[in-house]
Amino acid sequence: MKVCKFGGTSVATADQIKKVADIVLSDPARKIVVVSAPGKRSDDDTKVTDLLIRLAEAALDGKDTTAQLGEVVERYRQIAEGLNLSNEIVQVIENDLKERLEGDKNDTTLFTDTLKAAGEDNNAKMIAEYFSSIGMEAQYISPKDAGLLVNQRPARVQALPEGDAQLAKLRDLPGIIVFPGFFGFTEDGTLRTFNRGGSDITGSLLAAATDAELYENFTDVDSVFAANPRVVDNPAAISKMTYREMRELAYAGFSVFHDEALIPAFRRSIPVCIKNTNNPSAPGTLIVKERDHSSQQVIGIAADDGFTTLFVDKFLMNLEIGFGRRLLQILEEEEIPFEHTPSGIDNLSVIIRSRFLTPEKEQRIMERIKDELKADDVHFNHDYSMIVLVGEGMRDTTGLAARAAAAIARTGASIQMINQGSSEVSLVFGVMNEDETVILKELYKEFFSNIKVCS
Ligand code: ASP
Repeated sequence: MKVCKFGGTSVATADQIKKVADIVLSDPARKIVVVSAPGKRSDDDTKVTDLLIRLAEAALDGKDTTAQLGEVVERYRQIAEGLNLSNEIVQVIENDLKERLEGDKNDTTLFTDTLKAAGEDNNAKMIAEYFSSIGMEAQYISPKDAGLLVNQRPARVQALPEGDAQLAKLRDLPGIIVFPGFFGFTEDGTLRTFNRGGSDITGSLLAAATDAELYENFTDVDSVFAANPRVVDNPAAISKMTYREMRELAYAGFSVFHDEALIPAFRRSIPVCIKNTNNPSAPGTLIVKERDHSSQQVIGIAADDGFTTLFVDKFLMNLEIGFGRRLLQILEEEEIPFEHTPSGIDNLSVIIRSRFLTPEKEQRIMERIKDELKADDVHFNHDYSMIVLVGEGMRDTTGLAARAAAAIARTGASIQMINQGSSEVSLVFGVMNEDETVILKELYKEFFSNIKVCS
């Protein structure tokens, strides 16, 4: 039994949904179909999820929402028409949206999440109806009925393992199950959405809970590539990689698969395959526990911008017991997660995603570190990028770091920070934003020239 998830572009139009039906029909093992909300039909289009967010914002601002509601309904109407479904389903969707808009606006998180979830929820209903209309045995199942349980923390919604036993029963239902991605319910029945792109998480959770033989994640590219195709021309396709490698790449900007989605599949050792709805016969990228990395030590290079460094210096810091803990506690109290903490004997840098900071927070943090930790120097540096070299072979190949550093030196850019993760699956270089592209290209040349496919 396989779980397949179809992303936004795979379910954005009637024609795309027809391809989904063909894919599901072509393999009887494809039993659970997780769907996103309709995504972009072209580069300048807007995802239904974004339309819904705007709709929720307008409603919370007390504005007239007729136009925004109409825009969402119109997207479903066009799809329903292209699938030859009756107008009844469009009416059901419109009524559902109106009901959500009537919800309690005092809890703004719940109100917004409820509207956001409508994108996948209604799409799943419509796709189930389409499958049935062409003679497939299919049914929509709601995450509430299936028991997809999530925690109470709206800031970081995560699935609870307590839901697994109930979810496992999906296996025993007859026919094909069409399941909306992106949201679950707390134990007291409150709807919560995962963070953006979270339908990948739903698919992985269901694959793990039902002990699927494979989790197929259908998107709009033939495979995961060794570097961003928008920066590097024709990058090598990755045919096989490990969970840890995908995790590192997804973390550092490979948006093809949500980084949190790997965890459930990884824990149950369910292989994940990234495939293309528009070219389903392409083999895709298989993500597994282990691979033979003797011939391809480095599997990919990711680059991500939007980082800030908090630099703290204090003479004899290395002898001060508890300094690091107290520093990180200040960040914890400001609700700021950190990414890396490279350190020297008298100084420590904390690398943070800039989106978690504001000028006021930075000011407060600097004052607290000076007052409470008596630091000699504290400041923030902005506009950093992280370039991450990823590969299982990093562990037992000598000279990889030297080759990478030499490649960066050839660009004339300077390295601000180096961090070799303890797992030794990745090597991270902190560089200035403006040097990111040229470094990525040079590193790619160093490690991938003449390679078409890597595994
Ligand atoms: N529709 C949601 C988003 O746009 C979730 C998803 O597509 O995975 O983020």
